[in-house]
Amino acid sequence: RTTTSDVIIIGGGAAGLMCARVAGLRGKRVRVVEHANRCGKKILMSGGGRCNFTNTGTTPANFLSNNPHFCKSALARYTPQHFIDMVEAHGIAYHEKELGQLFCDESSKLIVKMLLDECADAGVRIDTSCSVEGVEKTDDGFRVRTTLGELRAPSLVVATGGLSIPSMGATGFGYELARQFGHTVLPTRAGLVPLTMTGKPQERFAELSGVSLPVTAQCNGRAFSNFMLITHRGVSGPAILQISSYWNVGDELLLDLLPQADAFETLKSLRASRPGIELRTALAEFFPKRFAERLCEVWFPSRPIRQYNDPQLREIATFLQAFPLIANGTEGYRTAEVTLGGVDTDELSSSTMMSKHLPGLHFIGEVVDVTGWLGGYNFQWAWASGNAAGMAV
Ligand code: FAD
Repeated sequence: RTTTSDVIIIGGGAAGLMCARVAGLRGKRVRVVEHANRCGKKILMSGGGRCNFTNTGTTPANFLSNNPHFCKSALARYTPQHFIDMVEAHGIAYHEKELGQLFCDESSKLIVKMLLDECADAGVRIDTSCSVEGVEKTDDGFRVRTTLGELRAPSLVVATGGLSIPSMGATGFGYELARQFGHTVLPTRAGLVPLTMTGKPQERFAELSGVSLPVTAQCNGRAFSNFMLITHRGVSGPAILQISSYWNVGDELLLDLLPQADAFETLKSLRASRPGIELRTALAEFFPKRFAERLCEVWFPSRPIRQYNDPQLREIATFLQAFPLIANGTEGYRTAEVTLGGVDTDELSSSTMMSKHLPGLHFIGEVVDVTGWLGGYNFQWAWASGNAAGMAV
């Protein structure tokens, strides 16, 4: 059985549903093929179940890509306010958590329901539990062979997402399809991901699992100030997840453990005001007690603070403000929020997301080499790139 439509979208996630809605509202006959048993599983699990659906401060600078200019056009044409307007029109209550990050008050289920309702109103047809067996170019478009029959359309949109969380339906299918049609796929790796440590570096952090502290994490010219959480395998928390996207195995990663203070001046003034206290007690004024004690067990044996001269205090201060974190890898796609790399933007139009090789073929969302920071930016890219393709198909 062959069904013809104007556009076939493979992947019913954030980008695919937005694209479907926009194309449907333009009167296009849209068919979405989703292999999971329901759409938007990643939206459901996002933001701890409350979906950080956008960031009001979104700018192109919040994205990593081989071509940092590529995301500009789509982001400018579909802004956070556009999405907020839709959320408000559906009566979904939301709040700003911090730094422009907007979350649902209740549940991310409401965002999926909103997108599905919008698609239904726009006449979009969605097939879940439908797997793609093959895609071919035809004279007048594309033929997609699926487990529910054959689909044909002049436009094909690939919205299959990245590789993170395979248990939620993530596959490398979009990359394979890109290669099939002659596109370059830039090397992929896990982003927004906890870092792991082994051997001595891990032993030094042993028994600190669960300790959380504010840090500034710096790597390759980038710095993120937020919390770091020590885990039983390494480190996590927003500051670490953010910097993980800029870190490769072997790169130097420094932590400022006292981001709000001048450590040397602070230690000096403690030495002046309370010369008798032990260094470990002094450090416990700024760090969780367990962490302060560990610093003294591993790095600087604790003595009354008056016994440290200026150069010794400066050495401790320098160490605290440029603490070398020795990670050996990441937790990988199993826990990563995003996939870095992907379909090379040089071969796509930035205004329509269409292939420069093959008219009618579009790539949107995370499968493209555009990756946002933590904080709602990845969904904003999914909405914006979905809108760009939805307006063009
Ligand atoms: P997806 O939303 O992953 O959708 C891809 C769809 O394609 C899926 O439904 C998948 O089942 C389907 N698919 C895959 N292969 C095939 C195939 N062969 N045939 C048919 N269908 C297929 N970002 C934020 O901005 N804010 C957050 O709060 C946030 N929280 C997150 C929490 C977690 C745990 C994770 C893993 C990610 C989070 N992200 C968040 C990132 C965000 O979810 C993604 O960047 C975003 O969903 C990408 O949209 P997409 O449409 O490209 O891909």
